[in-house]
Amino acid sequence: MKTVHNFNAGPCVLPRPAVEAAIDALKDFNGTGMSVIEISHRSKDWEAVMNECESLWRELLNIPDNYKVVFLGGGASMQFCMVPFNLLETKAAYLETGVWAKKALKEAKGLGEVVTVASSADKTYSYIPKGYEIPSDVDYFHITTNNTIYGTEIREDISSPVPLVADMSSDIMSRSVDVSKYAIIYGGAQKNVGPAGVTFAIIREDVLGKVSRYIPSMLNFKTHIDGGSMYNTPPVFPIYVMTQTLKWVKENGGLEAINKRNVEKAQLLYNEIDRNPLFVGTAATEDRSIMNICFVMAEGHQDKEAAFLEFAKSKGMVGIKGHRSVGGFRASTYNALPKDSVQALIDCMQEFEKMNS
Ligand SMILES: *Cc1c(COP(=O)(O)O)cnc(C)c1O
Repeated sequence: MKTVHNFNAGPCVLPRPAVEAAIDALKDFNGTGMSVIEISHRSKDWEAVMNECESLWRELLNIPDNYKVVFLGGGASMQFCMVPFNLLETKAAYLETGVWAKKALKEAKGLGEVVTVASSADKTYSYIPKGYEIPSDVDYFHITTNNTIYGTEIREDISSPVPLVADMSSDIMSRSVDVSKYAIIYGGAQKNVGPAGVTFAIIREDVLGKVSRYIPSMLNFKTHIDGGSMYNTPPVFPIYVMTQTLKWVKENGGLEAINKRNVEKAQLLYNEIDRNPLFVGTAATEDRSIMNICFVMAEGHQDKEAAFLEFAKSKGMVGIKGHRSVGGFRASTYNALPKDSVQALIDCMQEFEKMNS
């Protein structure tokens, strides 16, 4: 197999052992003589996988007992409407830190009043707004902890006077989180914990059951909690791969060790971006994400963008083109990205600098 450095933003690089285990299970699941995609989701063997997935998830994230977890289909985008369906009675507050936050906000607007407490749209979402006030008369406050497209991140668990809801699609499992500060945490798995097709939600039970509207069964958190994520057929294969990924996280020391590595990888790359006269970072320094590192060609070198992309590609870099809405470059340095890949990209930037001096 050819060696590449996979900086894709999502779906993205997964731990090789998880991919290999998935391949084995596709061929023969647990010696059943069937593929994992052929077995009944009501079978004992499958039940064991679901249980393992949930218990690893709870253990790694240190989820308190008064929280329920569900693994669903629909993506984080489905959660954009599921959250207001379940929580929004009259008014909700949103922090607008990017396109994903805006999409979440749009769905809430369809169901009630929405207050945008602050927005960083004025500077292309290159920073996290500060000093805003969270209204006390709202049903919940929604944040996007990591802004995948712009490379900004809220890395502390903020305190909120109202139930705090967080889209953690692209930084879940990258650091330890104080789950007790949140009412709901949700996200698509395909950024840091698995393949596309499974969506996670962590729900503090007492926030449910407070809205007066009819909630369609499939959009009702309670349906999925009561059904143990098996009200309908769960996304079996993505959940299997996610479970293998969680095992890898645990074997690699859990979230503290993973976070330490993530910070090291990000720091290495940011150092090079700051040192190399050809490049410049786009996110405000204090809000820089450790998962998605965004940069552009420096003033006077903008004409070299295509050439650098081409050069990087020739050196095995994959997925470093910035999101189509912002351009430039984005290197996603998720959990499973080896430090060697970061070093390879740095080498590339330094060689390109020499070629252009
Ligand atoms: C990718 C992403 C989404 C959308 O996820 P889907 O699973 O594709 O719906 C939402 N929020 C954030 C922060 C993302 O990075």
